This record gives sequence, structure tokens and C-alpha cells, in this order.
Amino acid sequence: MHTLLVQFTDLHGVAKGKWVPLAHLADVLANGAGFAGPSIAGTGLGRSGPHSEYYARGDAGTALPLPWMPGVARIVGDGFVDGQPFEACPRQVLRRAVARLEARGWRLEVGIEPEFFLLRRQVGSYVPADDHDRLDKPSYDLKSLPRQAPFLHALREALEACGLDVLQLDHEDAHGQYEVNFAHAEALASCDRLMLFKLAAQALAEARGMVFSMMPKPFADQPGSGMHFHVSLWERPASGGQGGQGGRCLFDAAALGGLLSPLGRQFVAGVLAHAPALCALAAPTVNSYKRLTVGESLSGTTWAPASIAQGPNNRTALVRTLAGRFEWRLPDASANPYLACAGLIAAGLDGIERGLEPPPDVTDDLFDLPLSALRARSIGQLPQSLAEAVAALAADEVVCGALGPALTRQFIALKTDEWTRYARHVSAWEMARYAEMF
Ligand code: GLU
Ligand code: MG
Repeated sequence: MHTLLVQFTDLHGVAKGKWVPLAHLADVLANGAGFAGPSIAGTGLGRSGPHSEYYARGDAGTALPLPWMPGVARIVGDGFVDGQPFEACPRQVLRRAVARLEARGWRLEVGIEPEFFLLRRQVGSYVPADDHDRLDKPSYDLKSLPRQAPFLHALREALEACGLDVLQLDHEDAHGQYEVNFAHAEALASCDRLMLFKLAAQALAEARGMVFSMMPKPFADQPGSGMHFHVSLWERPASGGQGGQGGRCLFDAAALGGLLSPLGRQFVAGVLAHAPALCALAAPTVNSYKRLTVGESLSGTTWAPASIAQGPNNRTALVRTLAGRFEWRLPDASANPYLACAGLIAAGLDGIERGLEPPPDVTDDLFDLPLSALRARSIGQLPQSLAEAVAALAADEVVCGALGPALTRQFIALKTDEWTRYARHVSAWEMARYAEMF
């Protein structure tokens, strides 16, 4: 081992960092690797003075050799500025949220399920990397899956070598789309693992001449990529210490003969109550809203939620309840996992603190119901654009409170700018529709 890859995550959920020779490990642990703060998206740091320097201070427990990069070990950094935890570092944001759970003797277990595309660059565009992957209904396709075996097995081996328990790999419902699942872990560790997965998948795809893409909806006529969170709340074992496994699942309702305990239902109620604001964190790009469409999409069933509803094993709802846990189906592959998770915790805790009751269980196929029927049942719809979602975030004190004022300000400014640039762009669709129309 000769080099540390000191990695942190910027506001957009992108892995950033630098290589530091291993000889400087002690400094990385004590002070951190230094970066020019304003060069990192979303810090809002100035260009001079002690407040311009961003330090990614290594979290010793995260250090792991990277199997695909011999001699290099990745260590996850927490943001520090001027010797203090940096308020607008996404990992610090999640640390604060986790601390609120810890203060109650709780921990959140999260299983994050990334879906992604393997693409090939074409002049001015991208196409699925596998030219033969063109079935009408490609979900679980065992003909095209083996064609990506060298990549998928290398990815599994790399993740396993990093201690992840890989549960399954499959072909998803779009051409060139796959999903890899690994076992759940405590919220912070789970987000670190998701970032590790992104690093591994990107490197291994590139080595094979492919583009690994977590764009939420690359093709209008195909389903997009979700990044569902499986969520359960646990009592920290009395003597298990930090991050310990085990303890009692506080969402378990087996004794009551149900899926979720009253506490679990309150948590879900909070997640639904804050759904519009959470959208900005869980579906944070212009493109995200092409996945979260209300009504018919060009690809038929996309399995992406649009309705603010919950139901037992209901994959058409925003929250799918299961025994002792729930699946939060809102996040897409472009979400910053730390921010999405921190928002989720704040919303869930708000549901618990206010003793909220979720809306009635929905057992219908929500994709089949017309908007009028949904309205008649008071089932709300998610924001349908990034602009709407950002406005909902700005109006939500609970979720903004979890992010903290500095990150909230930065997030809203960057995302408003992203929306404005998109809105001002003249697309190929507009040219085709309007150039000769009038
Ligand atoms: N791709 C779907 C989404 O965007 C999810 C499909 C599934 O349930 O696995 O959320
Ligand atoms: Mg899936």
C-alpha cells in the first residue's frame, strides 16, 4: 500500500478527493487532506482566509484497500473548516441527523439499491453498451445479463473484497440497465458503501470501454434508474456501542399482527408529509422529473412513484411497507445519499414527534388510477419539476433545518441555477415541434 485516496462527497453526490502518499496517514487522520473550498460544489466558501480551506479529515474506520487500484486505499473524509466540523459537508449533515437518533438510543438501518446503465459514447449521444440488449421487456433478462458477466463479476468481487455482502445482480427493465444489491447497514456506513459502489462501478466500466451512468432517466421511452432505500429503525444494543448490530427492531409489528409498529407508521407518515421537500434531495436533477411522471409514461410502467401514498407491498406507491421495514421508492440514482438520508431521518422524526398517522393503506395499483380518482381520495402528487421541488424544499423548515442554513442556501442556489439553465436551453424537441409550425 502506498497511497490513500481521501474521498469526500460534494453537494451533487459526486465523489471527490485526492491521492495522498500513505506516509501522511497521521496528518489525514488528525487534520485532513486540504482542498480549495470554493472549488468544491456547494461549499459556499470564500477564496481567501482560514474559511477558504476545506479539509477532508479521514474517518479511520472507513480505510479499505481498493481491489481495482492496487496500492491504493480509500478513506472517507468528513469536512472540516478552520478546525471545526463543516456545517455544509453532506457527511456532516448526515452525522448530525444520526446523532439525533443516537440521542434517543436509536439507529437507522438503510439498504440502498442502486440501478444504473452501462452505456457507450456515440457522437453527441449515448446508447446502451450492449447492442444486442433490445428486448421489449428486458427485466431479469438472462440472455443479455451474461454478456456483461466480466463487468458484473469484477464488480461483485471488488465489493466483496471491500467487505460488502452482495445479495443479487440483475438486468432491470430498460436496455443496458442493471441493479446490484448489497446488505443494509447503519445509515452513515450505508452511504459510504454506496459511494464505494459508484467508485468501483465507474472504474470497472471504464476499464471495459463503457460508461457507468447513474443518470435518472437517460432514455425517454425506457424506465429510469431508482435508488430505493429500505429503512428500519433499531434500538442500539444497550452495551453494543457505536454502530453495533442487533438490538430490537422498533418497526417490527409481528406481535401486533401487522407490518409496521405504531412508531414505524409515524415515521412513514413524516416521510409522506415531507415528500415534496424530500423530492429536491432524493430526485435532485432536472432529469429526475422525467422518471417521476404522473400518469402514462412513454415506457408504460416505469415503477417510479408519483403519488404520495403508502401501501403494503405496493410498488406503485412512494412508500412500500414490508414486515418491520419500508421501502422509500422516491430516490433516484442521482441523489446524494447523505443528504437524502438526512432528510429522511428529519422527516421520520418529525412524524414521530408529532405523532402523525399516515394516510390509509393503498392496495390499488396507483398507476392505473386516473388523476381525478387520486384527487377524490386526497392522494397528492409529487412535484413534477426540479423547480417545484426546490420551492417545496425552501418552504419546509423541518427538512431545511436538517440540512442547516449554509447547505440549504447553497443547495437552493445551485439547483435554481440548474433549473434556470435548463429552462433557457432550446432543445431538439422544441426545434422539431415549433421550427416550422407557425
Ligand atoms: N426503475 C424503477 C424506478 O425508477 C424501479 C424498478 C424496481 O422496482 O426495481 O424506481
Ligand atoms: Mg430495481
